Amino acid sequence: MNKSLKIPIEANEIIKTLNEAGFECFLVGGCVRDFVLGEPYKDLDLATNATPNEVEKVLSEYKIFETGLKHGTVTVIVNSKPIEITTYRIDGKYEDFRHPKSVTFTRNLVDDLKRRDFTINALAYDGKNIIDEFGGVGDIKNKIIRSVGNASERFKEDPLRILRTIRFSSVLGFTIEENTKKAMFELKHLLKHVSFERIRVEFEKTLLGKNAKSAMLEYVDIFGVVIPELLTMKGFDQHNPHHRYDVLTHTCVALDGATCDKNIRLAVMFHDIGKPASFSLINGVGHFYGHAQKSYEISGKILRRLKYDNKTIEYVIKLIKHHDLDLQATEKYINRLVYKLESVKIVKDLVLLQRADNFGQAPIHNERLEKFDKIDEILKSIEEKQLSFSLKDLKVNGKDMLSLGLKGKEIGDALIFLLNAVLDEKVENKKENLLKFLKQFNK
Ligand code: ATP
Ligand code: MG
Repeated sequence: MNKSLKIPIEANEIIKTLNEAGFECFLVGGCVRDFVLGEPYKDLDLATNATPNEVEKVLSEYKIFETGLKHGTVTVIVNSKPIEITTYRIDGKYEDFRHPKSVTFTRNLVDDLKRRDFTINALAYDGKNIIDEFGGVGDIKNKIIRSVGNASERFKEDPLRILRTIRFSSVLGFTIEENTKKAMFELKHLLKHVSFERIRVEFEKTLLGKNAKSAMLEYVDIFGVVIPELLTMKGFDQHNPHHRYDVLTHTCVALDGATCDKNIRLAVMFHDIGKPASFSLINGVGHFYGHAQKSYEISGKILRRLKYDNKTIEYVIKLIKHHDLDLQATEKYINRLVYKLESVKIVKDLVLLQRADNFGQAPIHNERLEKFDKIDEILKSIEEKQLSFSLKDLKVNGKDMLSLGLKGKEIGDALIFLLNAVLDEKVENKKENLLKFLKQFNK
């Protein structure tokens, strides 16, 4: 055991208080795995043999929220930090592939560890001893993901675990143990019973993992059960000297070249999903006319199915729709693009998407990298200059137009005319300059 595994003082304080009252208390799940790995943990989960009532009594000095009493969970605030404490439990039968029908509390830690998905997630630690009933520490050292108990049975109880396996392999860069892997493929059809909200969480974490490329390539058939559109990309030969990879391989390599950002990774995953549907072979060379529009339509459907919020959907499909634009590294072009796409941020992200797309092409087009750098500089200077890109940023308004004697539709036309002049840097966005500029033309 790694002696340097120090647990945060907040968790230590709770463990000590419960121990002094005669109860067990351990850190469990992901945080112990991350401690052993030497990685920063995301959240601290404690498990105890005390019932929720007993926990509340022993910790009565603290602020406690009854966040999940039915499942035996309370949240305690220590040093302004929330920590979840859950009573050891055994999950009842999973009847609807979603939730265990019943939850039974137990006084036995090993029973609680047994219900957990993977050996690497079935560890407990109290600052002194690590409880490792299923060989989780060894699996962490050997970088292996293995079901606790019989993989098929565990996947039948809760098929989401099939995707959780892929997610952990992507995030941690671990290999999936053979029996576990075999059961995943055999039982993948059960994913049809899992809610899309739960699927979305694991799919997104997989895309954001450091091993997203190999995870999506190796397990596309599994994700294909719930996102069948992905399967159209698999092995789809592009018949084009610029595209040595098939569509799926190109996409997955591009993931490797993408920043670790939700919108970018989603856009990369789906940017070419419309290619198979828009393929044509002309003189032996593959073309994909209108594929960006097709990808936009298909990815919109997928993201809605995955129950993404509207803001994310709109943003990601907008990136996809424009992913193929032949960007120009000139101020005039970029100013107009910012105006058209309505923010500097989305143009910046479009460059990130194109960088990833370029990374996925063999050979990489180096001349484009210089262009992207130049565009980034232009975007930076736009931010610094705080240029105006919408009518509301313009330093004149309808009233100013009225005072110049314009009326009705003329007012709107004049404002748009001025905004365009600002975008083309023909006039500075200052009231005096704008009015003078307009007077020259408004004869
Ligand atoms: P992360 O670091 O991403 O939060 P995690 O391992 O903490 O990863 P969570 O989804 O937060 O994962 O779940 C916490 C713990 O609960 C897991 O480590 C595992 O022990 C258990 N667990 C979560 N979901 C399941 C499941 N579907 N089946 C069995 N055990 C699960
Ligand atoms: Mg967690």
